[in-house]
Amino acid sequence: MNTFQDLGLNQDLLQAINDLGFVTPSDVQQKTIPTLLQQETDLVALAQTGTGKTAAFGFPMLQKIDVDSRTTQGLILSPTRELCLQITNEMQLYGKYLKGLNVTAIYGGASITDQASKVKKGAQIIVATPGRMKDMISRRLVDITKIEYCVLDEADEMLNMGFYEDITDILSHTPEDKSTWLFSATMPQEVATIAKKFMHQPVEITVGTKNQGSDQVSHEYYLVNARDRYSALKRLADANPDIFSVVFCRTKRDTQKIAEQLIEDGYNAAALHGDLSQNQRDLVMKSFRNKQIQMLVATDVAARGIDVDDITHVINYQLPDEIETYTHRSGRTGRAGKTGVSMVIISKSEQRKIKSIERIIKKEFIKKDIPNGMEICEVQLMSLANKVHNTEINHEIDGYLDNINELFEDTSKEELIKKFFSVEFTRFFNYYQKAADLNVSGDDRSDRSERGASQGSGNSTRYFINVGKRDGFSWTSLKDFLRECLQMGRDDIFKVDVMDSFSFFNTETSDMPKVLEFFTDFKHEGRFVNVEVSEDKGKQHSRGRSKGKDRGKRKESTGNFFDASKRDKRSDKSSKKDKRKSKSGLERPRRSRR
Ligand code: ADP
Ligand code: MG
Repeated sequence: MNTFQDLGLNQDLLQAINDLGFVTPSDVQQKTIPTLLQQETDLVALAQTGTGKTAAFGFPMLQKIDVDSRTTQGLILSPTRELCLQITNEMQLYGKYLKGLNVTAIYGGASITDQASKVKKGAQIIVATPGRMKDMISRRLVDITKIEYCVLDEADEMLNMGFYEDITDILSHTPEDKSTWLFSATMPQEVATIAKKFMHQPVEITVGTKNQGSDQVSHEYYLVNARDRYSALKRLADANPDIFSVVFCRTKRDTQKIAEQLIEDGYNAAALHGDLSQNQRDLVMKSFRNKQIQMLVATDVAARGIDVDDITHVINYQLPDEIETYTHRSGRTGRAGKTGVSMVIISKSEQRKIKSIERIIKKEFIKKDIPNGMEICEVQLMSLANKVHNTEINHEIDGYLDNINELFEDTSKEELIKKFFSVEFTRFFNYYQKAADLNVSGDDRSDRSERGASQGSGNSTRYFINVGKRDGFSWTSLKDFLRECLQMGRDDIFKVDVMDSFSFFNTETSDMPKVLEFFTDFKHEGRFVNVEVSEDKGKQHSRGRSKGKDRGKRKESTGNFFDASKRDKRSDKSSKKDKRKSKSGLERPRRSRR
């Protein structure tokens, strides 16, 4: 039984299926469609996202309802407006040859009167989000007392979102003898409870292993210092030039912040979270579908509605609080027969969470290294080469060729290729040539020494300044003071540490001449403020001026000054520092919009 015809679907539906280009029914469709067509039964179907569940309940429902009647016979509840619209759209496509079919979507954030009038015209099928549905029932704008089929789609997500009460309420307005079909990707306790409470001896169908991630998805994790999270994200994006991804953050704030940073750094990114208006969310989703957005930064709740098939990567910028949520996240990729990658950026303290997730998805993570700068340059170069190679020649260019040929008359093919690619390559090369290794080894001690050693080295310079707490400075006020003096941005001055009578701070090394020049013979409130590059221990002791007796305590120079706890606190400020990087000499090469 390998065709839709074998499943017992009628000609009108087969015709539509043919139009849609579906050739073989998916597993869940093979298992559910014949059952639902032949029996009036309750059903629980567990299958991963992207396995074709909409058609699994959609085809049987469309075949079973009476399109000549204007009575509402089928109700489909789904967690979000986005899904609601998607299901409605799919149902209309499946039923395009059913004359008189009216599938109406009911969801919040749009005119309730418009929706009510559509229902009134005789909607045989209503696709609804629970909140709005309940609202319309209480206002008597819908009548579901005669429905024969009720689908709870993405039941786990609906319950996750707190719709239990609403669903119970809605179901209390439906007839006892209807058939209830529950579809879910996972089977948490709440779903089992609903099944028990509202269903009678349901047929159970499981496709794949329960709770298991799709086989199409590979899982990778990257271990970095917390402060390097953002830089790591950028590298992962740069190492995958054709990335089309959802980046998951834990909070709305982080979501917004990361999206803004990515945009600032030249990526095609956008945020999707609950603080956006429905209109804004729609616009974002539209751009994402059209692939104008390559990196959609989203919260878990907002992402529930994302049902886009060709997402190449899911990036867990932060792991979810509830480990179960990981399955939902990674299920956004590897859909409709395609392969996908779910990447997790973690710091050391989260390593054990990976083990817990592995137990849930029953798959192992691959520990991978954040690509280094030169690897990224190579990927970008080859990506460009392939793009050029596959570009169709636009003959509009013919008219200009004489002039161009003239310019390159004496250039050999070899030289021309080198020049051509250098244009693009140089941007990445300049950015990445001195980029640090972001990877952290699994071993605690080596991590600490790496962090210590890297502090103040590389692209940033550490300075000593002869003012401190006694002069009324805190680290924030000193930072503000320096920023003002030097006319620098919020994140251009970092690692500010204020001692009693002196302090330290860092800037990008490229800013060093400016800093030193400014503080040559600089007086503040009548006294000289002296800034020097903080060097190794030996040299510190010979430093001139300032309060001699404190100087010996300056045990720190470029590196291991902070104690571990302090350092950890600082690493939480990763985003600030990352931003600073992008604003300074290390500006990421701007991406050309596609
Ligand atoms: P789920 O609800 O399980 O997450 P969907 O019903 O949204 O999955 O289907 C995922 C995608 O697969 C949709 O784009 C749908 O049109 C497509 N699809 C569904 N069934 C088939 C099939 N038999 N052959 C090819 N594509 C299909
Ligand atoms: Mg679905």
